[in-house]
Amino acid sequence: MPASTLQRNRCGKSRFRREARAGNSVDEFELIDRFFDRKEKSAGVKLGIGDDGAVLEPSPGFDQVQVVDTMIAGVHFPPDTNPADIAFRAVAVNLSDIAAMGARPRWMTLALTLNNNSEQWLQSFAAGLYEAADPHKLALVGGDTTRADKVTVTVTITGEVERDAALLRSGARVGDTIYVTGTVGDAAAGLALLQGSAHDAFLVSRFLRPPARIATGRALVGKAHAAIDLSDGLAGDLKKMLTASGVGARVEIEKLPLSKAICEQFDDEERKHLALTGGDDYELCFTALPDAVADVPGITAIGEVCDSSNLRFYLHGDIVTVDDSGYRHFQ
Ligand code: ADP
Ligand code: MG
Repeated sequence: MPASTLQRNRCGKSRFRREARAGNSVDEFELIDRFFDRKEKSAGVKLGIGDDGAVLEPSPGFDQVQVVDTMIAGVHFPPDTNPADIAFRAVAVNLSDIAAMGARPRWMTLALTLNNNSEQWLQSFAAGLYEAADPHKLALVGGDTTRADKVTVTVTITGEVERDAALLRSGARVGDTIYVTGTVGDAAAGLALLQGSAHDAFLVSRFLRPPARIATGRALVGKAHAAIDLSDGLAGDLKKMLTASGVGARVEIEKLPLSKAICEQFDDEERKHLALTGGDDYELCFTALPDAVADVPGITAIGEVCDSSNLRFYLHGDIVTVDDSGYRHFQ
């Protein structure tokens, strides 16, 4: 990303460097060198951090999948969030998009806007970044570093999926079963707890450290007909997948997989609301024939794809309506 013309002074990025002198802080070169350039050889990276661009070697027979997501302090995470969690989450939400496409993650870039450059902050941030990336052999191959009032983190990931095999939102077929991975509603529950006074370590971690369902996404290639990841809430995201596929669906609310923690912390009405409309779970929702995914672990059937243009929700056989304010019995 080019430095903002408004903020660029005559010395370009040297402004960042000069301001970085105070206290326990590091300048931009040192920052990249110490925290982000690990100088080790990563698979498929002909040239990593240090030049004007990275040079990457795609795998023959694979399509590339490119994703990007930005997180802004105060918008996507509370400003006082631990830097390790900020970084972990920024990588995880991108991994989730890669998983929803059925791809394997390969390379990432990091555009980091800092409002301070304390060594401690950076150390923690870098640790969280690698904690999210390393299990997937996801290599950081470049980035950009800037300074502004709000910490802003943009991560891009390039993934690879077998040629023409990417999982799309548009492939759902009438008669498919609809599945979700993991449990739903936990992240919104965790965020609500973070913003209030109650605490539950599991639910909060579901918001701060979303899962990366890469293994499931990979297992679904050639089996699932359509997939989406759940960032905005099950009802809304499922609707997007159905619209892209030109089909409708029936979902049984009592089948939604709920964690033990959400059941302990929230009453029946609240947890159903969170499960249906709460965002940030980063679980996968997909459609498939049951036989095709019988050996895929950690998934729950929640409904089926129908020949209509509607998404209908049922609770113990009764049709209910679901909107942003929750679900209610159909009148
Ligand atoms: P340019 O001016 O050509 O954009 P920079 O001076 O911004 O180059 O960056 C130097 C090198 O460091 C580049 O390879 C860039 O990709 C990398 N880089 C910059 N910031 C980051 C970051 N936050 N994380 C990882 N790599 C970075
Ligand atoms: Mg640059």
